[in-house]
Amino acid sequence: MKGLPNDNGLFMPSKIPSLPKGFFDNIEQYSFSEIALEICRTLIGDIISDDKLQSIAKHAVNFPAPLVSLDERTHILELFHGPSLAFKDFGARFMAQLMSHFNRGEDKELTILVATSGDTGGAVAAGFYKTPGIRVVILYPSGKVSHLQEKQLTTLGHNITALEIDGTFDDCQALVKQAFLDKDLNYKQRLSSANSINIARLIPQSFYYVEAYKQLQDKSTPLVFSIPSGNFGNLTAGLMASKMGLPVDQFIAATNANDVVPEYLSTGKYTPRPSVRTLSNAMDVGNPSNFARMLDIYCSTWNNMKEEISGYSYGDQETTAAVKAVFDSTGYILDPHGAVGYLAFKDYQKSNKNVQGIILETAHPAKFIDTVEETIGQSVNIPERLAILADKTKVAIPMSIDFASFKEWLMEF
Ligand SMILES: *Cc1c(COP(=O)(O)O)cnc(C)c1O
Repeated sequence: MKGLPNDNGLFMPSKIPSLPKGFFDNIEQYSFSEIALEICRTLIGDIISDDKLQSIAKHAVNFPAPLVSLDERTHILELFHGPSLAFKDFGARFMAQLMSHFNRGEDKELTILVATSGDTGGAVAAGFYKTPGIRVVILYPSGKVSHLQEKQLTTLGHNITALEIDGTFDDCQALVKQAFLDKDLNYKQRLSSANSINIARLIPQSFYYVEAYKQLQDKSTPLVFSIPSGNFGNLTAGLMASKMGLPVDQFIAATNANDVVPEYLSTGKYTPRPSVRTLSNAMDVGNPSNFARMLDIYCSTWNNMKEEISGYSYGDQETTAAVKAVFDSTGYILDPHGAVGYLAFKDYQKSNKNVQGIILETAHPAKFIDTVEETIGQSVNIPERLAILADKTKVAIPMSIDFASFKEWLMEF
């Protein structure tokens, strides 16, 4: 519920426990939500009753993560079958379930404030939609999110309220930060955040690594995961799954031009810098917040980390060339983020012949429809759940970047 500890660090489990023996041997007998339940029992089973955990796991994992093979050794894990078409749906749904549990017995509603540059807001809105006792206020920069992203934020109604801020994403974030520091507001309202570095958004991301392993036909060829990364939450969740016992040979940190982690892996030097814009824009991060968690897992030792993680980075031209090459040779349509993961696995494979790879496909190609259609020269199907938004009416409250008016509105909310 707290999100961030007082010392400005990040929450981490004090120890990452192992999953029960026999779990991985019998993995094919488990459904996706049973896998989620087993991981929850192991990680947080001492703070939530088993009945409740069962209900949380069932509700959090209510869409599939299918593994699609491009060839015998190259598999794509599709993480985009949730409501907002990106893997962030897993974290948002699970967090909504947990917050609603810990919020029980409170008379006063909990108000979650989120600033978004596009994607996170959509996942959080869908994840918390109709969650009892919780309402969500999303601040987004007017004119700076895509048309469909705006519809994802502004058409749900019920407990989701969108504020269209006449400013930038940074302005939105500044308003949210100031609200958390404001005494009057915190006296009047119960405020919380759905920040992406909340550990509750990381835990559920370990579920699908195990779900992917379950679906492998061949479990004896060494397995590597290639993870298109920005803030490195997804990769950190994979490391946690491996520490819990999942048999993984290697992790691949795949980035666009924002390559501070691959650079660290090859040089031992970590040099955060301002992010640069790329086509795989959900990975445009110059100082990844979960790098601290990765260091923690490897006891801050470069040698330990580079044993288990290999880093690769690619420019936009290589990325679109990969989208085209994969489409031309297999008919499969990658989005620009998945394409970065694909390139990294192919490069890793060149010097490691006897491996199989699972590439995390973090978003549906329809989310990046302009780039993808231009690259493959063909139209991309828009999934029904996104297409129907086009006809829905946008409802948003326009607001300036002036804190006093935001505060006045929120006091009366
Ligand atoms: C957020 C996001 C990423 C980056 O994930 P991290 O956990 O921040 O590394 C990659 N791809 C897509 C589509 C995303 O939305």
